[in-house]
Amino acid sequence: MEMSKREIAAKVLGSPLTNRLWRLGGGRSGELRILAYHRVLDDPPLSFPFDEDLISADTETFRRQMEFARRNFDVISFGDLLQCEREDRRWPARALIVTFDDGYRDNYTNAFPVLSHLGLSATIFLASGHIGEEKLFWWDRVAYLIKHTRMQEVSLPEVSAQPFLMTDPRERRACTESLLAWLKRVGEETRRGFVKNLGQRLGVEIPATLARGMHLSWDEVRQMADGGIEFASHTVTHPILAQTDEAQLRHEICESKETIEQRTGRQVLAFAFPAGRRERFNKRSVEIVAECGYQYAVAYDEGVVKENNYDRYTLPRIHVERDQSLGLFRANLMFPRLMVGRTHAAAKAVLAAQQAYG
Ligand SMILES: [Zn+2]
Repeated sequence: MEMSKREIAAKVLGSPLTNRLWRLGGGRSGELRILAYHRVLDDPPLSFPFDEDLISADTETFRRQMEFARRNFDVISFGDLLQCEREDRRWPARALIVTFDDGYRDNYTNAFPVLSHLGLSATIFLASGHIGEEKLFWWDRVAYLIKHTRMQEVSLPEVSAQPFLMTDPRERRACTESLLAWLKRVGEETRRGFVKNLGQRLGVEIPATLARGMHLSWDEVRQMADGGIEFASHTVTHPILAQTDEAQLRHEICESKETIEQRTGRQVLAFAFPAGRRERFNKRSVEIVAECGYQYAVAYDEGVVKENNYDRYTLPRIHVERDQSLGLFRANLMFPRLMVGRTHAAAKAVLAAQQAYG
């Protein structure tokens, strides 16, 4: 959906007036919303050395988003959801789960204080092999290398017949996006080999301490677990599961669960598919998630979860992106059916709202 149309719709649907009317409408039960964050960071995106697409919000914006969430929704965890199911109770009227993917350290330094202050729970999906390690995620490695090469033109024939131009940040960003899209499509071996050799091909040395303090430590994970944060699994190394063979699938899905359970002393209930749009994981990976004893899994497709009809191993979420206005965030949460994932609904909603408000 075009951002402009969404933003126009958000002006009306995300306004304080609409919010008041929505609240008067009373709780509509039978729906669960799951918010998907990655990083909460105050770094300026332009000079950011890694993949800036993973910055979901700055700390102040995150605080305002969570205040809105607390005022308007029942923020719960996957544990609460399971409890409802086991006791055969309905879900809370306005159920919302706040999730973070990957396990970046800013979840502890920037997001956790906000969540604690507001008394909100959240679920963090950890790529367990990166926790407490100084290992860059492959997309951050690619973004860093493309941003730091001195080359003005780069030939990567396996990705594109045309060389990539690198004369300004916009071209470099376009190159990074092409590479990341290609890397999500190719086999696991190809991806690993390409990422490993890319520094040499671009003439960039990765500083040994570059990933220091980038990911959560197990100590920080335990502190947050004691403070009401729920931890869940996002594999060990964050591969694209559709490109991963059976033996590694099992390792990635089952071992991360065991590691997190050992480190936190708490049961892991949920799993998040890496880069989890439908084409990025396959039926086999969903089966293994069930076999490994997870209760729920979230995808990265957008939507709401309906109590009377949902697939517990491919729950949709609502994305939070850095360039969204607060109005769009509010509109996405209050009216996900209108705002999320459907091409013309937002434009229609604007017209309807304009008519309703005169
Ligand atoms: Zn991820």
